[in-house]
Amino acid sequence: MLASKIIIPVPKIENRKFTKPLLCGPGPCDVWPSVAEALNKPILSPMCDEYFNLMADIRDSLKYLFQTKSKLVLAISGSGHSAMEATITNLIGPNETMLIATRGIWDERALNIAQRHNIKAIPFRIPFNTTFSYEHIEAELKKWKPTALFVTHGDSSTGTVQKLDGLGELCHKYGALLIVDTVVSIGGVPFLMDEWGVDAVYTSTQKVLSGPAGISPVAFSERAEEKMNNRKHQPPFYLDIKLLAQQWNCYGNTRAYHHTLCSPMLWALLQCLQEINKRTLPKFWKTHADVVGHFHKRLRQYGFNFLVPKAEDRLATVTTVVLPQGYDYLKFVKYMRENYNILIFGGLGPTAGKALRIGIMGVNATIEVADAVADGMAGTLKALTKSSL
Ligand code: PMP
Repeated sequence: MLASKIIIPVPKIENRKFTKPLLCGPGPCDVWPSVAEALNKPILSPMCDEYFNLMADIRDSLKYLFQTKSKLVLAISGSGHSAMEATITNLIGPNETMLIATRGIWDERALNIAQRHNIKAIPFRIPFNTTFSYEHIEAELKKWKPTALFVTHGDSSTGTVQKLDGLGELCHKYGALLIVDTVVSIGGVPFLMDEWGVDAVYTSTQKVLSGPAGISPVAFSERAEEKMNNRKHQPPFYLDIKLLAQQWNCYGNTRAYHHTLCSPMLWALLQCLQEINKRTLPKFWKTHADVVGHFHKRLRQYGFNFLVPKAEDRLATVTTVVLPQGYDYLKFVKYMRENYNILIFGGLGPTAGKALRIGIMGVNATIEVADAVADGMAGTLKALTKSSL
């Protein structure tokens, strides 16, 4: 039947060889063995009880992860950017103002998204290897009276962590909502949504949660919910939190079909969260602090320099390192992969060509992994000096 009409032949796909590296870039990170197993669990229909039970378990665990009593907690089908776009577009309408505390690439992405939706986006910048003072933020809030302030908590492009304690209160004083990106920080460093007055937060699975990318948790405060309920604009259909809340049963047993969620991703997300639940947040924060402390000590011994000058601004999950004069960042990354089978990254956005980015988080937050990376980096530093002399 219609065989004569076939104009493209069956492609020849070669069986490519692949040796899995240790994933120590700023993400994706390796996955928990239990998560790899969970990905093989059965497909569920978006109509059956098991599916809604799974979503309920995920929501309970997300409330723990974000530390919120809010009802409006769910996960977006997509990687971190989808949650970034959902958060911004559900809360802020065209011609409303979003202030963006900008120090890395994710803030620039937020700017890009806001501009595409005709939001009046106002970035204010600091040197990328530093963090914001509340005096600076307050001056900008006072000046612009924005609908919301966007802040990245842990910045994987710069290796910095922004202090957030009390920031919600400061935003609310000027009538602004506080939106926070926790993609590379949650689970690895303290984050307390309700305590810090955060109105909207999103994260993703491929970092500390140690799962595959493709599903991204979000949570909204009552203040954010009220703003959404009174909005005049329509966010993108696929990302409409009001509709998704009906599918995720945020307000009782509504079970409304919006789209077909990927059940292996739901199973995987629950398993990621279970790995954190069983460790508990305070213990997992401490694990990350201890491991990064050990890693930095070893890097200092070999004479590596940190991109972020102040120790309190350094993010526990992603370390940014400046190489001595004359070293090529891409060659360094390539040597690590080829000789140690460890994947680390060069800089991104403002740090491109200026730093190495090394992520030791989630399932990889162990002294053994930190030692393997430190050994590899020391060996690479020596080998590349020799070869370039
Ligand atoms: N925010 C931060 C802090 C990130 O590190 C990343 C991914 N590296 C993103 C947002 C975007 O997430 P994704 O690549 O999953 O879309």
